[in-house]
Amino acid sequence: MSEVRTRIAPSPTGDPHVGTAYIALFNLCFARQHNGKFILRIEDTDQVRSSKKSEDDILKALSWLGLIWDEGPDKGGDFGPYRQSERSDIYAEHVRRLVKEGHAFHCFCSEERLTELRKQQMIDKKPLGYDGHCLLLSEGEIAENLNKNIPHVIRMKIPSEGCCIVKDMLRDDVSIEWQQVDMQVLMKSDGLPTYHLANVVDDHLMQITHVIRGEEWINSAPKHLLLYQYFGWEAPVLCHMPLLRNADKSKLSKRKNPTSIGYYQRMGYLPEALCNYLGMMGWSMPDEQEMFSLEDMIKHFDINRVSLGGPVFDTEKLDWLNGRYLREILSDDEFTQRFSQWAFQPEMLQAIVPLIKQRVERFTDIAPLASFFFSGMPTIDLQSFEHKTLSQDDSKRVLQFIAWRIEELEAWHRDRIEQTLMQLADSLGFKIRDFLFPVFIAIAGSSVSTSVIDSIAVLGLDMTRARLRHAIEILGGVSKKQLKNLEKEYSALVHQSEQS
Ligand code: GLU
Repeated sequence: MSEVRTRIAPSPTGDPHVGTAYIALFNLCFARQHNGKFILRIEDTDQVRSSKKSEDDILKALSWLGLIWDEGPDKGGDFGPYRQSERSDIYAEHVRRLVKEGHAFHCFCSEERLTELRKQQMIDKKPLGYDGHCLLLSEGEIAENLNKNIPHVIRMKIPSEGCCIVKDMLRDDVSIEWQQVDMQVLMKSDGLPTYHLANVVDDHLMQITHVIRGEEWINSAPKHLLLYQYFGWEAPVLCHMPLLRNADKSKLSKRKNPTSIGYYQRMGYLPEALCNYLGMMGWSMPDEQEMFSLEDMIKHFDINRVSLGGPVFDTEKLDWLNGRYLREILSDDEFTQRFSQWAFQPEMLQAIVPLIKQRVERFTDIAPLASFFFSGMPTIDLQSFEHKTLSQDDSKRVLQFIAWRIEELEAWHRDRIEQTLMQLADSLGFKIRDFLFPVFIAIAGSSVSTSVIDSIAVLGLDMTRARLRHAIEILGGVSKKQLKNLEKEYSALVHQSEQS
């Protein structure tokens, strides 16, 4: 058998997600167990949502966890480039081949037509998807449209009947009817590929033998398998891993659980404990031992031990495990060293010093002023939010709107955060002092503290989000009905500020 090659293929469109680390871990173990290679490929075909910062953060987060790849954009390798944005020519060449061989076609349908089509399909309760309109164009019509530079995409042809059988390492064959599969766009009107095309072409050219990825991709498998067939390539072995879940069994989401690896780093979890915990997601050691190192996991790895029941990512269990690492694994010397590494990160200290320097007379004044930068959730209760003009519902509303607003920031800069908060206070008609009161409580645990805007900038999105959420919970949480109303009000506010 040829060398086993697995990959993790994150899209750099946000914070490094624990789900990415989970999938990376299983790919790494599988590759190592077979003395194979583990590859990191950046899937940045979505030019609008992708960013270099997110790519860097993902690479840093995976390295922090010890999930080290053999080939990747930073390391190179024989199958590069490992960033899809640098492979456009390869995709263009492959899509031309599909068109030439009659497996894909030009589609000139306008947005309006497609919207109309979707509407009608919904009314008729038919499956949504492209209706094949442009398949009927003659060679002449296509040439004419191309000559006129009419915007177009390239779609793949899909058989009109029969089923696709998807073989998966973890489940019985899955049968999906072709009628349910859309004529997927392979190349967008800007000439860039979609995920499906780029993913298949790259997995083949990078000689990936096993595709281990999240279950959410299983419905895409027929399109991918068909593309392999069109190209005349052997498809890799597929393995769809169960998705991580919130305690209520819904798909793990940052609304309910911190999902960013950066959050766990900042909260003071050990990377080896988090990695161990991710290894327990749907998998167990043969002896059911709960504490195991990455080496142990690789040594005893067997993908068939993955169980499909959705694994719950439970932070309490993670706390328990992390505590055991701190107490049972680290010697006092190691503890000292690991703690000081975590607490005295130069970047963090350099950001905090300008905020506290003017306010201290002795070093002993630092801890009381700055402890909230190093803590988890502040110790607050309902009384902490008592205020002369702001009701608790006002506070909750303010915090919820801020939580939504900061998710939309393109960059995490102090001035940008300030401007956003000012605008929000203004559109809500609050005095800035009053508006910032619940923010102080949520972020610093007290209304007497360093500038809350500076503090938010230093704490970062992950920790800020977590503290806002924590405060909202302390204020009684948001019921479904309240959420609906708040969402309505929020979208009106955003709309209004876009117009002004
Ligand atoms: N870019 C995809 C993602 O971010 C990769 C999915 C796959 O592994 O095929 O999930």
